Amino acid sequence: MVKPMLQHLFLLGHPLGHSVSPAFQQAALDHAGISARYEPADVPPQDLPTAVARLRQPDVLGANVTVPYKEAVMPLLDEIDGRARAIGAVNTIVRRGRRLQGYNTDADGFVQGLRERTGFELGGQRVVMLGAGGAARAVAFAALESGVASLTIFNRDLERARRLLNDLEQVTSVGPGIARAMLLDTKSLAGAVVETDLLVNATPVGMYHTASEGTSPAEGIVLPASMLVYDLIYNPRQTRLLLDAAAAGARTLDGLAMLVHQGAEAFALWTGRQPNLEAMFRAAEAALAGKKG
Ligand code: NAP
Repeated sequence: MVKPMLQHLFLLGHPLGHSVSPAFQQAALDHAGISARYEPADVPPQDLPTAVARLRQPDVLGANVTVPYKEAVMPLLDEIDGRARAIGAVNTIVRRGRRLQGYNTDADGFVQGLRERTGFELGGQRVVMLGAGGAARAVAFAALESGVASLTIFNRDLERARRLLNDLEQVTSVGPGIARAMLLDTKSLAGAVVETDLLVNATPVGMYHTASEGTSPAEGIVLPASMLVYDLIYNPRQTRLLLDAAAAGARTLDGLAMLVHQGAEAFALWTGRQPNLEAMFRAAEAALAGKKG
């Protein structure tokens, strides 16, 4: 009997020390009995075109793309899916023949994680988001597409938040007065959270191995108990923001469910099959436990 050719999947990023995607994607491939290896590829910027060209070979199913290449990879692909184009970033590449197609699964991962873990539906809700980077783009797109009552984007760099809003207003049907951009300062944020149903942290403030480890992006702000606080950070699972929110009586959600769900959607795009989510979560949790501190 001829053995099936071993297929390959890559995670393109730089640096890659933090990622748990290889652990949970490999677990899903193994669970499904698919003969494929998911490998981290730490690619320095000058080598990105060569790394993308490698994806055109017949032994490759596709790739994930992480920081800092989610935008830079776009001109190197043959087609970009409509959602990825609207968000302005690609986190998943699928090889079809010799053509490479780019997708973004972060927005759906954000919504699925929220829905599965808390039952929270975005439609009609008042949302405050901290950050205006790559992850924030996907979150803001998902929020506006889901018909939130309001979306306030706080960022240190106000111009960046305004650009994000402007870009999304071109591609989503946002009603007047729904979305606004504000400079991140304690007084304005304290005022905004009083009338908020969902607070999302899409900044790295509080992440392990950063200068802000152990701190909160909402330091010194009274968090209402009626609110749900969703931190996209998954290492640590319990950030200072989530600990403060829980102490104030608010519901909390960390970023692991989003991570696994964006990965599950990528898996389905590469293989045409739904992965075993439980196997993915187990592997992600085990990999995180090994990376703590
Ligand atoms: P990014 O593109 O570099 O954007 C970072 C954002 O955070 C920018 O808006 C930046 O503000 C802001 N920021 C950085 N340091 C800050 C500080 N000290 N105080 C206030 N704001 C600060 O990063 P990203 O890719 O969007 O990732 C953001 C976070 O989301 C990371 O923690 C990442 O791990 C997490 N994430 C999680 C998932 C998941 O699946 N759970 C997926 C993607 C990302 P300026 O514009 O002012 O610089």
